[in-house]
This record gives sequence, C-alpha cells and structure tokens, in this order.
Amino acid sequence: MEPVITRFPPSPTGALHIGGARTALFNWLFARSLGGRFILRIEDTDVERSTQESVTAILDAMQWLDLNFDEGPYYQTSRLDIYRDYARKLKDSGHAYWCECSAEELEVRRNKAMAEGRKPKYDGACRSKGLCEGPNRVLRFYTPQSATTVLNDLIKGPIEFDNSELDDLVILKSDGFPTYNFAVVVDDITMGITHVIRGDDHVNNTPRQILIYRALGAKLPEFAHVPMIHGEDRSPLSKRHGATSVMEYEKMGFLPEALINCLVRLGWSHGDQEIFSRSELIEKFTLENVGKSPSIFTMERLLWLNAHYIKEKSPQELLAHLKPFLARRSYPEKSDDFLTGAIRTLQTRTHTLEEMAEAMAFYMEDAIRFEPEAATKFLTKDMGAVFLRLISELSELEAFDEASLEPVFRNTAKELEVKLGKIAQPVRVALTGGTKSPGLFEIMEVLGKEAVVERLQKGLEFILAA
Ligand code: GLU
Repeated sequence: MEPVITRFPPSPTGALHIGGARTALFNWLFARSLGGRFILRIEDTDVERSTQESVTAILDAMQWLDLNFDEGPYYQTSRLDIYRDYARKLKDSGHAYWCECSAEELEVRRNKAMAEGRKPKYDGACRSKGLCEGPNRVLRFYTPQSATTVLNDLIKGPIEFDNSELDDLVILKSDGFPTYNFAVVVDDITMGITHVIRGDDHVNNTPRQILIYRALGAKLPEFAHVPMIHGEDRSPLSKRHGATSVMEYEKMGFLPEALINCLVRLGWSHGDQEIFSRSELIEKFTLENVGKSPSIFTMERLLWLNAHYIKEKSPQELLAHLKPFLARRSYPEKSDDFLTGAIRTLQTRTHTLEEMAEAMAFYMEDAIRFEPEAATKFLTKDMGAVFLRLISELSELEAFDEASLEPVFRNTAKELEVKLGKIAQPVRVALTGGTKSPGLFEIMEVLGKEAVVERLQKGLEFILAA
C-alpha cells in the first residue's frame, strides 16, 4: 500500500477555529494511525485577506494542540510558478481557454439569465474564441457539459453531480494568481496527497476538483467530507455560540488534552469511550467511525473534560500551565513547593486554570480580605476564646499537618465546650476570607504555621472589634 499523506491547508484570514482544528486533528490522526505523513500548507493566495498575524496564530494553535507536521508550512504564494505551469498544461491540452469577459459584462449577463429564469452561470462566450493570454484576461477551465461526476466519499458514500450544473470556472485570475479550486488540486497532486479530509462545506467544490484531476491525467485522492459542527441550538457553530478560536480556549484556562478530546468526539466515536490518551487516539482512529450527521459542541462537555485533566495531572505539570494565569493576577511571588501544595488542594475543585488561579487568591495574597457577610456571620464574640486558644496551641506545634492539627481542634472544642463543627467555618473565614475552600487541615498545612497564626490573629482582632 502506498504511504498515506494528508494535509491541513488553512487560509490565514483569521485565527484557528474549532472547526479548522477538528479538521487538522482528523488529518493528523489519520496520518499518524497509518504511519503516514501530515503536511501543513498555508493557502494565502487571497492576498488581501491573508495576514502574517493569522499565520502565526495558526502555527501557535497547532503547536499548543501538539499537532506536529512532517512537511511545511508551504505557502501557496511561493508556488505561483507551479500553478502557472499546470495552467499551461491545461491550456495546451485543450482543457482551458482565455476569457476576456469583463466583470461588468458578466454581471449584465448574469442578471439577464436570472430574469429569464436561467441559472446565472458563465455562458461560455469565450469558449471558442481561441484567445491568447493578455491583459485583463482570465484562464477558464472547460467544464464538460454532459455526463455526471461521481464523488465516492469515504464518509458520505457516492454523490453524483450533473456536469451541466458546473461553471467553466476561472483557474487563473487576471493578476496571475490561481483560484482555490485549481491551486488546491495542483498542490494535492504535487504533494502526493492520498487522502483529503475536510469539512463538508467543500463538497460542492469537489466535483470541480475531480474534473481538473482528470484533465491533468492525475490519480484522484480519496475524499472524506466531515459533517459540520453545530452549537447547542443546532445551528452551525459561530461566534454567537461563544469563543470559536482555539487560543481563546487556552486563555480561558483549558488544557490542550481537554480540547483534543472534545474535538475528536465532534464527529468521531469509539463505542462509549469518552476520554482517550493520545496513543489511544492514534491506535483507534478510523474514518469508518466518523458519523454522517453534524456534531454538537457544548461548553459543558469541554468543562467536564478539562476538570478531568486538571484532576489527573501532577501538581508540577499543572503548575507549568498555571504560571501565566498566576502572573496575570500579579500575586506575590511564592516558591514552587508552596504552589504545588496549594494546587493539590484545588485539583478536584476547579474546571479551568483560570478558575484555579482565582481560587488560589487566599493562598497567594498576604493580607486576607474578609467577605463582609461571612465575617459578620462567623467571626462572632463567642469565638474570641476559641481563637485565643487555637493561636496559643498552634504556635506551639512542631509538625503542622493533619495528624498534628486535628487533636488541637478536637481538644479545643472539648475544653471550651463548643461543637467542632462550630469552629470550622469561623476558622475558614479567618484563613481564606470566605466560606468555601478545600479541607481546613489541608489548607493549613499549605499555608504553614506562621501564616495560619497571623491570620487567626487578624480574625481575633476582627472578633474583638465587633
Ligand atoms: N483553504 C481551504 C479552507 O481553509 C482548504 C480547503 C481544503 O481542504 O481543500 O477551507
């Protein structure tokens, strides 16, 4: 069997979006699962809309998702001579002709056709004029007007197109640039692409591309058109549904593993399995398991996946991901040991790195601000004696972990005749400012004796001033 070669060919007219990333992932997985090659090609012939900034954004997103490519990035604008060569081949073999119809003329004829109830496609006026290349002329492809073209799609099955529905499409514009349908075929032929896996918004382009392959006498690749991604309201995913760019998800605090798992399940499945390691994906991915209907992207699922990976990673690994989020909050510097200790207590309680960075506030900030409602409710006069006693007992402790802390609390409760449960919330408010946090002993161990005693003292001051 010939080696598999796939490609991802984004147009650099914006960031890498969820749909594009899913296409990239499927091509990457397909190549990796069959020991093939994966090529990145930047389709930048729309010079007005293409930007270097978008190229960088796409490359960054590919890197963040760890979708490494074996070749490229190739840039179409560096390959203009190749397209001209192939255009010449088509012209010389009688498959293309120069056309001098101006945009205004075409517009008038299109309007007339529509008014007369005909299809507004190019009428073939220059087909038999035998024109040569010249200023303002475009090169058009002679689309056979009889018979049909069949696309044997690996996902959708056979789809038949009537050739008479297809235009004599422009392959070279008057500025010498190729159009998408032509450049993509030349690239896919010259790069030896064996499988074209892309969104099904391209299905209608495919018969045009097949006709160009045939005119060039080239072997067809396999085509696999993947159904669209929808939002929860079952309309095509768009900005209305929230963030669409991959790197926006990074900024919101998602881990690449979570996004990969979310993306792969947009159209592909393997039984009921929800979570896949990278090697499992490579082992299990097949095009046969890509569904025929649109898939639905939900934030809820992505959050669930992210929470899973936050739980699963080691605190050290998470710290590397978390550091930019902490830096954005300008927290005071802390040692990595302190930070990993704090992370460990929050791993089962947060869905995103952003949420975790926020939840770290009470560990990070030197001065705790009490939530007014919590303080009034829990830092009450009757807690004065409890705090005093805790401060003196805790100050004496050598070890400062659950095993040594627990008896101090138990004994204090017993001797002062208060329920242990009555002490927890006031202490939590003093240590964290609020009423929700990881387990009390866990956070005390992370904060350490000095900070705990200092915070209890501040709590006591509040109590006495109340
Ligand atoms: N540049 C095209 C796009 O971004 C590529 C389509 C294709 O895969 O042929 O939609």
